[in-house]
Amino acid sequence: MLRLQAPLDARYMDASDDELKTWISAAKATLGERLFILGHHYQRDDIMEFADARGDSYRLSVLAQERPAAEYIVFCGVHFMAESADILTSDAQQVVLPDLNAGCSMADMADIDQVEETWEELEAVIDTSRLVPITYMNSSAALKAFVGAHGGAVCTSTNAREVLEWAFERGDKVLFFPDQHLGRNTGFAMGYNETDMRVWNPRLELGGLDEADCKDTTFLLWKGHCSIHQRFRPIHVADFRERYPEGIVIAHPECARDLCQVADQIGSTDFIIKAVAAAPSGSAIGIATEIHLVSRLGSENPDKHIESIDPLICPCSTMSRIDLPHLAWVLESLVKGDVPNQITVDEATTADAKVALERMLDITSASLKGKPVD
Ligand code: SF4
Repeated sequence: MLRLQAPLDARYMDASDDELKTWISAAKATLGERLFILGHHYQRDDIMEFADARGDSYRLSVLAQERPAAEYIVFCGVHFMAESADILTSDAQQVVLPDLNAGCSMADMADIDQVEETWEELEAVIDTSRLVPITYMNSSAALKAFVGAHGGAVCTSTNAREVLEWAFERGDKVLFFPDQHLGRNTGFAMGYNETDMRVWNPRLELGGLDEADCKDTTFLLWKGHCSIHQRFRPIHVADFRERYPEGIVIAHPECARDLCQVADQIGSTDFIIKAVAAAPSGSAIGIATEIHLVSRLGSENPDKHIESIDPLICPCSTMSRIDLPHLAWVLESLVKGDVPNQITVDEATTADAKVALERMLDITSASLKGKPVD
């Protein structure tokens, strides 16, 4: 999806980091409680310095919802995260993305036209009343609305298993998008195997499958991935283990199956942060996730050796578009009364997407209480 960010004024592009930080601090102080800056775990350190809250995309959106006095929510993340914040916050709150080009390559691998076309193709060969669509949080608002309107739910990397268990109480199959790896890794954790899964390639007729495949399979996994997490390979684990035989390897479930099979632990960003905190002093921990989070965990846990298992891993380049010049520009614009780069989701999409998000919340809270969910 093309989103064009207008070039910034020379005032911001030519300023030093110190000048930009001074302007950001001054604007923050002027806006006070009217402003709430959210920093995703994968964000760069110079931006995180100014974040009022840190977290994953869903947690940050909920925190914004819980701050009704904050008129301006500046989301230092990527586009789908700002959309989710707009869905969950009130009409009195305006969500701003400092750089409109901060998208997510994984979220962009499934658009609403492709998903609607997929559904129509499947309607011709299977009973879609028994097919439950599940979308990962890393997807556009339009996809969240689609699953809300078709009896499905959103999931995060933390609750994907609970959401899939819920789906199989309602149907025989799931259509899982946009991340095939999260769907596959969760399916394996639930006891399914490769023969229960087929990859749906939206660029091919009937997803590149035949009618029998569609009928037989339990998981239809959208051919999408995160280019950052897919880079980690089993050879990186072997290399880490050679250097640290007692060390542990933790992988994010957006990594490919062959990597997750050789990792010691698999979990979301929240899981990784907690696992590092709980590890004994002196531990060596190799991590397969975005490099800014890994580096931050290293500096915040100086008593442990923490490294990315891929020494050449690059940061999430779209997330890194949020930099000091863009943050200074949006905050100074807000001080002047302008609201640049506001992200808005229309009413109909918001209503259906909320259904899908609320189902996820109900599933998670009922599972915590050990109760079934409607
Ligand atoms: S790390 Fe991957 S999934 Fe996360 S925002 Fe970047 S491209 Fe998207």
